[in-house]
Amino acid sequence: MTASSSDNSISRPITQDLEAAKKQYQYNYTHIPPLAMVDELPGSELFSNQWIYLLAQVLKAIVVNTIITNRGNRGSQSVRDDVKWFILEALIKGAIPVKISIITQLLPIIPKVLILGLSKDFRELDDLFFSMIRENGLKIFQDSLDRVTALLYKGHPTGHVSNLQDYKQIFPIMKPEAIAQTFQQDEVFAYMPVGGYNPLVIKRVNTPGDNFPVQEEHYQAVMGNEDSLATAGEEGRLYLADYKILDGAINGTFPGPQKYIYAPLALFALPKGSDSHRLLRPIAIQCGQTPGTDYPIITPNSGEYAWLFAKTVVYIADGNFHEAVSHLGRTHLFVGPFVITTHRQLSPSHPLNLLLRPHFEGTLAINDAAQRVLIAPGGGVDRLLASTVDNSRVLAVRGLQTYPFNQAMLPQQLKQRGVEDPNLLPVYPYRDDALLVWDAIHQWVSDYLSLYYKTDQDIQNDTALQAWAAEAQADDGGRVIDFGEDGGIKTRAYLIDAVTLIIFTSSAQHAAVNFPQKDLMSYPGIPLAGYMPATTLKGKVSEQDYLNLLPPLGQAQRQLNVLTLLGSVYHNKLGEYPQQHFTDPQIKPLLEKFQSHLQQVEATIKERNLHRPPYEYLLPSKIPQSINI
Ligand code: FE
Repeated sequence: MTASSSDNSISRPITQDLEAAKKQYQYNYTHIPPLAMVDELPGSELFSNQWIYLLAQVLKAIVVNTIITNRGNRGSQSVRDDVKWFILEALIKGAIPVKISIITQLLPIIPKVLILGLSKDFRELDDLFFSMIRENGLKIFQDSLDRVTALLYKGHPTGHVSNLQDYKQIFPIMKPEAIAQTFQQDEVFAYMPVGGYNPLVIKRVNTPGDNFPVQEEHYQAVMGNEDSLATAGEEGRLYLADYKILDGAINGTFPGPQKYIYAPLALFALPKGSDSHRLLRPIAIQCGQTPGTDYPIITPNSGEYAWLFAKTVVYIADGNFHEAVSHLGRTHLFVGPFVITTHRQLSPSHPLNLLLRPHFEGTLAINDAAQRVLIAPGGGVDRLLASTVDNSRVLAVRGLQTYPFNQAMLPQQLKQRGVEDPNLLPVYPYRDDALLVWDAIHQWVSDYLSLYYKTDQDIQNDTALQAWAAEAQADDGGRVIDFGEDGGIKTRAYLIDAVTLIIFTSSAQHAAVNFPQKDLMSYPGIPLAGYMPATTLKGKVSEQDYLNLLPPLGQAQRQLNVLTLLGSVYHNKLGEYPQQHFTDPQIKPLLEKFQSHLQQVEATIKERNLHRPPYEYLLPSKIPQSINI
């Protein structure tokens, strides 16, 4: 089956394409065992120049901010001089890799930087970073990142803060995100489970459960005497965030200070009534899975700093769940195997390959960089997350393995957690916006696939498609758990659902968890690791106890840098396929229908944001086509 009349399948047998692809795209099960990843990144999977340029611009802002924090005001005339001297030092010390091949590219840039000076917006550095990254590929990270970063972070501020104002030091140029002003508020804390960085955890419960013995008096202290815990449970107004998956994880120690990971439980409730703008309110937190003296129940009445401490423990658990499970495990590593299988089993002109390919751009490259750099020993995850790097990898694997494909469909995920009904839980921006995008993608996939498959029989007769499905789940293939209908693909309806899930995860789901990294997770008030044990809550908690829970300055700076970088690269947009990508003229009107559907979704979300605390991560204009950062 082919989708275009201009493909080369007539002059060249499809099997020849596939044989070549199978050589290029080989599975590896040891990078993050036992998951399927690509063994060696094929050249065709390298990042595009456009992507590298975007990355270079973000890097520039972060590097300049870091230079000024760590070595500014050392007698030089201006910020621009500080940056200039840093670059000179990096070149002299060989930290910036000056290969012969890039000297020619840097020749016009370096004199500009060093002799003529830097422009106000440091535009010259875009080109410098661009040349360096393009010439070295992502190897720059392996070959020289250690040296550049060692130099970059020399002289960084250290130690715990004695008040939140101390964090201002790490923002000499960059501005803290708006969350820096609001993260301590209960309203913001209670909005996170429905419109924050990880709106994927809360579930509706009848009671908090035996291991979380919240009492009526705890409940009524927040919700008033007219309401009760029991009634709230009966009426579907109780919601639990349970971080049990983090229980037993090993506390990390890299790069030095003892770090702590927690497995808390947090209870939220909705006030009585029928107001469609009712928001969740936080009732109680227990910072470990076992009730008792080690983990007392903390409420808004337990004292200002005890309550802040407990809320921060939940933020930290949510951040670790977010990065390992929701982000890495359930988007990046969820989609990866399909990229490999699609190239190996579907010829470039196969309609499904054609549809999926733009949604896979950069995914193998970023996953490869993640396993080699970000989640390697000494990398960003080791440094910033609360657990050991091995444990964080295990969490990512467990996150993926507890997310079987056929149960990962959005409507089913929401039902599983009991949060699908807007009458029970009226304000859940992630749910409401994600469903709009899901439906738009589902319609497009259905329209598109129905051009090529008229009946279920057509699906069953497509041997390439069946081979694709078989390899995706095979032990020596993609190892996707619970994929297909009894092993194969029998119906068009199933194929449409499955392809919708793959495209939705590559685009919307990843956007929903990736981009809050900058807005909501880069400020140290919402840390990625704790620096005090949860048992601190057994005694009276002071302001300094709370501040010692937060990252020391050096760690805060790294968190700011890594999460700003990861949350800033918006490459390509959902629904915008490359020019001439689809040559079948029947597709044009269907694609236009999809694009206009997305515009309607955009307008609906904007309208919704007038009546709720804004949630912008699923605006189609902010959703990239693929996982590439
Ligand atoms: Fe990402």
